Amino acid sequence: MSKTHFGFTQVDAGDKARRVRGVFDSVAPRYDVMNDVMSVGLHRLWKRFAVDVARVRPGHRVLDVAGGTGDMTRLLLDRVGPEGRVWLTDINGPMLATGRDRLADAGRLVPVVRCDAETLPFPDAAFDCVCVAFGLRNMTHKEMALAEFRRVLAPAGRLVVLEFSRVWKPLEKIYDFYSFSVLPRIGKAIARDADSYRYLAESIRMHPDQETLAALMRQAGFGGVEYFNLSAGVVAVHRGWAS
Ligand code: SAM
Repeated sequence: MSKTHFGFTQVDAGDKARRVRGVFDSVAPRYDVMNDVMSVGLHRLWKRFAVDVARVRPGHRVLDVAGGTGDMTRLLLDRVGPEGRVWLTDINGPMLATGRDRLADAGRLVPVVRCDAETLPFPDAAFDCVCVAFGLRNMTHKEMALAEFRRVLAPAGRLVVLEFSRVWKPLEKIYDFYSFSVLPRIGKAIARDADSYRYLAESIRMHPDQETLAALMRQAGFGGVEYFNLSAGVVAVHRGWAS
């Protein structure tokens, strides 16, 4: 059986999805508060920037992949207006349920679909925009997911990927200290789960850097691929167009 990485651990490729599910089952109830604490609120600005980069307009049909608790869906809804639509999707039931409930509490009803990004249950050319925020890193076969994003995009549609990336070299040491020493402690104190936040730090290190991800997007058939570094490359927003 082929192998892949789960953080720094080599696992059977068929087993990664189950392990990732375990991480998000565990963190779902405290996911939102942890995001605010560990990024000191910066994730809100990163998400807003990604939505700006998506250039979504009123009437657009948008697919939020690995949408989790629905932050991106909420921001995108404001852009597509009443004539547009945003689908909230994720592979994980508890994350999706939290997202659906939060949106419903805010009076926003959206289609919610539990699905694997690597085999999307949508027809070809169904969307003007696919966005995936902090999700691609967790997918076992990134090239399959990228091919699916390309398949479901209509001509001139765009893919926007917001993901952790490679930090500016001079900041690497301090970032490593934060990731491997501070983050698991915060995870333990707030989410009662140090291991999942250790996985977060490790999975970031294993994720393709800015240029490698741009190349993967081009290989998947996207044109005009570019990326924007945020917070010295702690995260990057990649955008590519379906021609
Ligand atoms: N997009 C949300 C955000 O930015 O707050 C949630 C991001 S959360 C870090 C990552 C999400 O990816 C989890 O909800 C997880 O269930 C989802 N995920 C992991 N693998 C997936 C897959 N193969 N298909 C769809 N979703 C997946």
